[in-house]
Amino acid sequence: MATPLSASQLLRVLRDEGLKVVEHRSWRTHNRNHKGPWGPVHGVMIHHTVTSGTQNSVNLCYDGYASLPGPLCHGVIAKDGSVHLVGNGRANHAGLGDDEVLRAVIDERAPLPADNEANTDGNRHFYGFECVNLGNGSDPWPAAQLEAVERAAAALCRAHDWSDRSVIGHKEWQPGKTDPRGFTMDAMRGRIRQRLGGQPGGPAGPPAPKPPVSYEPFPGAAFFAPGRRSPVITAMGRRLVAEGCGRYEVGPGPEWSEADRRSYAAWQRKLGYTGADADGTPGRASWDRLKVPNV
Ligand SMILES: [Zn+2]
Repeated sequence: MATPLSASQLLRVLRDEGLKVVEHRSWRTHNRNHKGPWGPVHGVMIHHTVTSGTQNSVNLCYDGYASLPGPLCHGVIAKDGSVHLVGNGRANHAGLGDDEVLRAVIDERAPLPADNEANTDGNRHFYGFECVNLGNGSDPWPAAQLEAVERAAAALCRAHDWSDRSVIGHKEWQPGKTDPRGFTMDAMRGRIRQRLGGQPGGPAGPPAPKPPVSYEPFPGAAFFAPGRRSPVITAMGRRLVAEGCGRYEVGPGPEWSEADRRSYAAWQRKLGYTGADADGTPGRASWDRLKVPNV
């Protein structure tokens, strides 16, 4: 049995999961609790809006319409991946669905049974996210939006200690429903399962391998002449500062200067060079040891 999150908890877990969350009007106290119970909660339901445009969709989900007053969900997930909170409490999103499906969700059993009955109040037991999409099969689902679906569902699973099997589509709950259309819930559950294996707010998928670090080759002593401008000189200066050899009043900057020469001389002395070998004009050996990153 899971007690619904408070508005502040809901906001926090979504933000902790790395989502950009927008609070719409009086979402914290906007609900249908006067029409029926809210909770215990057992899962998360994903929908598509059959609308386009973020603000238009958010307004509609907040207000609802004459025959179906809002809120029509808890959060609207826009195509840019932002999540707009429109309700906290009982919301008109799930309608009547199949009691056997609810039982499977509670038990976190897969595969889900067919949703062939409309005998159970879903608005009581499910958080709902409406995703902005026309639902016509051709309106695209941007990667940012799918990632936000994944993160939002994962945030609630984490908060309630649920697995990805607590996340279902409206079409898996209520006979006749087709949403969400454009991706499979099995694939989305797979993404959520993978995310739940990591930390809140973690990166999408496995971390990208680090590119190999490479360094600027020695450009030759003649390169370091008065008037020379190059991002290589700025990068060199930054490395000299990092090595504690910076002798800059301003900068480092791209133009080879007396301050660069003094700084480089300090680096040469740090390496043990003396005399003419520490005159501040870069040489190959000291340059290679400075490890100036590629610009
Ligand atoms: Zn729906």
